[in-house]
Amino acid sequence: MPMAGSLIHEVIPVGLLQCNCSVVGDPQTREAVVIDPGDEVERILQAIARHRLVVKAIVNTHAHIDHVGGLQKMRQATGAPVLMHREDLDLYAALEVQAAMIGVPVPAAAQVDAFLTDGQTLRWGSQGAHVLHTPGHTKGSVCLFLPAEDRAPGQPVRPLLFAGDTLFAGSIGRTDLWGGSFSEIMRSLKGKLLELPDETVVYPGHGPATTIGQERVANPFLTGGLRQESDHT
Ligand SMILES: [Zn+2]
Ligand SMILES: [Zn+2]
Repeated sequence: MPMAGSLIHEVIPVGLLQCNCSVVGDPQTREAVVIDPGDEVERILQAIARHRLVVKAIVNTHAHIDHVGGLQKMRQATGAPVLMHREDLDLYAALEVQAAMIGVPVPAAAQVDAFLTDGQTLRWGSQGAHVLHTPGHTKGSVCLFLPAEDRAPGQPVRPLLFAGDTLFAGSIGRTDLWGGSFSEIMRSLKGKLLELPDETVVYPGHGPATTIGQERVANPFLTGGLRQESDHT
C-alpha cells in the first residue's frame, strides 16, 4: 500500500521535441491529471492504464505545439476537460503556423473546456496544485505548484513544480517566439518561482528535473543576468 499523500508520477518524454508529459495520480482514489500530452498519446494512455488511473483533467502549461499536439486525442480517450490559460488561446488557434515552422502535420485542435487562472487550486484525490501564471515564454504560460503540506500532512515529502518551458535545469525558456518577453519571464522567475522553497523538485517541460535551490545558485539566468536565449520551444 502506498503511504497516504504519496503520489504516482510518471514523466513521459513525447514527440519530436521530447516534451515531458507528466501523469500525476493519487494512489488512493486513482484520480489523475495529465500535464502536456504533446504527442504519443497511446504511450501516455498505456501508463495511465498500467497504474489504473482515471484522468480528471488535462492541464496544458502553454500552447506551443510540442505541448498541445495530443490534447484532442487525450480528451477523446478520457473524456476529461482540457484546461489552458486564456492568454494562450491565440497561440493555440495558430497550430497550423506552428506546425509549418517545425515541419510536422497539423494536429487536431481540442475544445478548451475551462481556463486556468493565477492563484487557482486544482484538486484531485488528496492532491492539490496551485496555478501560477508565469508569462514570458508565452503570454499564457503557467506552472503548477504542489505544496508538500497539501499532499501529505506531517510526512517528509517534497513540494513539486511543473514548470512548462519557463524554467529548465541550467536554463530558461526562450522568449524570441510570438508573445515572448524576456523582461516578463524574468519577472515570473524572480517574482514567483524563486519565491518557492529551495527543496521544491522542478519538472521542466524538457530535459532533466532539478530543484529551486539548485537553480537559485547555479542557473546563469538567475545568478548573473545572462541574456542569451536558450533554444527550447
Ligand atoms: Zn516545449
Ligand atoms: Zn514552449
